[in-house]
Amino acid sequence: MSARYRSLLIFGAPGVGKGTQGKLLGCIPGFLHLSTGDIFRSLDMNSETGRVFREYSSRGELVPDDFTIRLWREHMRKMIDAGRYNPQRQLLVLDGIPRNASQAASMIGDIEVLQILHLVAGDEDVLLKRMQRRAEQQNRHDDADEGVIRHRWDVYNRETVPVLEHYGRACCAQINAIGTPGRVLMHILEAAVPLHEKHFSNALEH
Ligand code: AMP
Repeated sequence: MSARYRSLLIFGAPGVGKGTQGKLLGCIPGFLHLSTGDIFRSLDMNSETGRVFREYSSRGELVPDDFTIRLWREHMRKMIDAGRYNPQRQLLVLDGIPRNASQAASMIGDIEVLQILHLVAGDEDVLLKRMQRRAEQQNRHDDADEGVIRHRWDVYNRETVPVLEHYGRACCAQINAIGTPGRVLMHILEAAVPLHEKHFSNALEH
């Protein structure tokens, strides 16, 4: 078996800012941000895979696990082959996967989870407004409708929160996601930079 990708999971409810923070972190050399939502949204919506994604995401549902894991593995392979991801030198920042306990179990041979950063924001109304604004700006059909947003939160609580139990609370750091993006990023860097230095010190010397 080839070595597992050393990973940090950005975790939190839909709308909490995982994508924004993941992208910021991914700008720092040595970190590679990868969002499954972004991979899905980049599909040709007229293709079979694009159609499957749209069918589930427009209802606020998770795309079936087999389909998701296969697509994710193909994407990782392409990134490595294209020289866009070097597992020896980069900490993988995963955003949006694994999204349930079954995905976490399927990915045991793929990723070594060094830490989970759990972004926490108490106020649902703030998140709701933020997501509806994002829907307008980015033309995201799954964030336009309040009913779909609330369903996504239900799915998160029911299916995604158990992923924390899978990895154990010990590897999970709580991050306050309320505040300016720069402030939240500061909290994230406090956890992520020492982790990166600890596990990728050899890569930093070259
Ligand atoms: P996100 O951008 O992470 O909020 O994801 C948008 C939508 O993509 C989700 O509501 C799901 O329909 C789908 N999706 C993203 N990641 C996954 C995953 N790991 N498993 C299943 N569906 C996913």
